[in-house]
Amino acid sequence: MIGKKWNVFRKTTSILLLVSLALMSSGCGNKNSASGLDTSSQEAGISDSSGEPGGGKWVDSDVSGMVNPEDNIRLQDDFAAAANKDYILSASLDPAYEEASIVLDADKLVYERCMAIASDETMTDDNALKYKALVDLHSDWDERNKLGVKPLEKYIIDIQSISSISELTEYQGSLDRNPFGLGLLIPESVGAQLQFPDKSTLNLVAPSLSLGSVSSYVEYTANTLSAKERCDEVIGYFLGRLGFSEKEIDDILKGNYKVETFIARNSNIDYFNVSEMFTKAQNSREGISALQGDYPLLQILDSRGYLGCDNFYVDYTYLSSLSSIYTEKNLEDIKSFLIVHTIDSTKYLLDRESYEKMVSLYTKSAKGHEGLSDGQLGVLFRNDMKICGYLPLLDTLYLEKYFKDSEKTDQVEEFTDALIKAYSQILDEEDWMSDDTKTAAKEKLQNMALHLIKPDNVADYSSAEIKSYNEGGNLVDAAAEGMRILEAHRADISKNPNFDRFKWDIYDESRTTTEINCVYYTGENGIYIMAGYLAMCDAAYGEDATLEQFAGIVGTTIGHEITHGFDSNGTKFDLYGRQFDENITAIDWMAVEDRSKMDEKASKLAGYFSLARPIPGQQKVNGNNIKDEAIADMGGIKSVLYVARNIPDFDYDEFFRAFARQYAQQTTKENELDTIRGDVHPLPFHRINIMLQQYDEFIETYDIKPGDGMYLSPENRVTVW
Ligand SMILES: [Zn+2]
Repeated sequence: MIGKKWNVFRKTTSILLLVSLALMSSGCGNKNSASGLDTSSQEAGISDSSGEPGGGKWVDSDVSGMVNPEDNIRLQDDFAAAANKDYILSASLDPAYEEASIVLDADKLVYERCMAIASDETMTDDNALKYKALVDLHSDWDERNKLGVKPLEKYIIDIQSISSISELTEYQGSLDRNPFGLGLLIPESVGAQLQFPDKSTLNLVAPSLSLGSVSSYVEYTANTLSAKERCDEVIGYFLGRLGFSEKEIDDILKGNYKVETFIARNSNIDYFNVSEMFTKAQNSREGISALQGDYPLLQILDSRGYLGCDNFYVDYTYLSSLSSIYTEKNLEDIKSFLIVHTIDSTKYLLDRESYEKMVSLYTKSAKGHEGLSDGQLGVLFRNDMKICGYLPLLDTLYLEKYFKDSEKTDQVEEFTDALIKAYSQILDEEDWMSDDTKTAAKEKLQNMALHLIKPDNVADYSSAEIKSYNEGGNLVDAAAEGMRILEAHRADISKNPNFDRFKWDIYDESRTTTEINCVYYTGENGIYIMAGYLAMCDAAYGEDATLEQFAGIVGTTIGHEITHGFDSNGTKFDLYGRQFDENITAIDWMAVEDRSKMDEKASKLAGYFSLARPIPGQQKVNGNNIKDEAIADMGGIKSVLYVARNIPDFDYDEFFRAFARQYAQQTTKENELDTIRGDVHPLPFHRINIMLQQYDEFIETYDIKPGDGMYLSPENRVTVW
């Protein structure tokens, strides 16, 4: 019942640093807490005016109404406001998200393209026909409304028919009856082993919980209560429509919460130390067999297709607790849990009434907004494809239609090569690093896995049986087929004991190339540049963007992801993505004195951001929260500027304007304050102004002088690289 992965569109914008889940679920990730080292600002030694970025000459141009037609804003004083003035003045906010942005524009463009695939008569292979059949099921609201919530019924009746623990085991093990993979321990993904990055492991996880996090079941907060109210409402709504009595609904909810409370209280994976991760969580088949006791995990997995997989990563304490709940006495409660989670898996796949209800309950959209906005259509469509298990099919067809000739892919590959070369030079020129650290840094750079636009395989959905409404089909059954295909693939690759971080598997829905995003995975030392991100450039400039425009949007973002390998967090991982070697000894390729110099630079950067109070009278920025993203932004620009030195007649003005356009946005003050409080990325107008003022090329292009808002003297600049 966790809708939060997509409930705030703004948080999924561009360049989130995602942390691979296999890798330290315990939080070496991007969500730095506000506490910890406070770096702060005093010693930043800023002398330009008050020290505040912009010296009082910037407005928060992300917020609607801050820039007006009559304002005469100089590029030299507030580049974000001046360069994006045309966008700002013509922007109309999407009513659901209260936002206008290039990200949202790109999202709409990708959605239009997804629809165009469905109506493209020249695409006639089996994959295309499957996708068209699916889109027909998805978009035909008349038929969906006629069926109402009926498609859910047979899955629930099947669960109700279970009359013993052995039947429950049979149910859990059946791909056919249990296509959504429900159960007490779930084979979620195949990734690298923490201690041996070239060996694979099947990651087993406890199911998601209706109230969100494990802690919700330990101490009740206002959030727990509202999550419970929502869950009760959703389950009551669907079961009520299926004719369940209030008493039956109440019993199902109670049974579910009992099982979920057990799961929450016995889950410890987030608290494992390195030794537990390496020696106890990582298990062979024999190890699992010893841990599982009376819980038939291997039997369930094997009948779902995992026979032959011999490496498992599991919450070993949770697994050994399952014997105690898996008894006849608890059978009805576990069935209730399965019913609730079946509804959770299918709640967006039924009729319009339920769909709009779920959207309003699970997505953060503007108060009082009704129906679905244009911006939501694309976001919801992708979400629906994902929960149906068809993103790999969509990705395959998108690449087939829009990246058929190699021109765009070649451009990304060539530019990335040039950025890697530039980066090597940048590392070489850092006079604060010792030679040994430089050599190690360059080795990490050269071993970075570059995943550009196209995964290494194409999806094959030929075995999916998608029946039309006339043939008695519906979207829930189609989703069951999609989920079976994904799991069959997962089972298949789990048998390969080797892991290759240079390979990009199109079936891995966490790395979907149609997303408007790019990612660096610390645990793999690898970047993913998504085809969807190129739509940012198309949305801003059409498909004939110049090289400088491409460099300003896509180039800087590739550089940004590369830099994540060298930010405060990323530098703690080695060229294979490891933090510890197989003897559980910490690996640090940076010499101690080099790391402390780098920390000092990062502190100075954080301190500079912490001086900013974007909205007068409101809170300041917490520089520590956003420092790694800011380091990445600056590294992205710098590496492109190095590449530009070798491009004849490079138009710097066009490049800097395109960089600014990437982050053009209009939103409300409330949304902006949410971003200040919760996002690990700097505010969009800071991503423009603070990042650009660090570079001579920018200062020179616009003849920026001391006293101008964009001026920052060389000694006060805060770049790390
Ligand atoms: Zn980032």
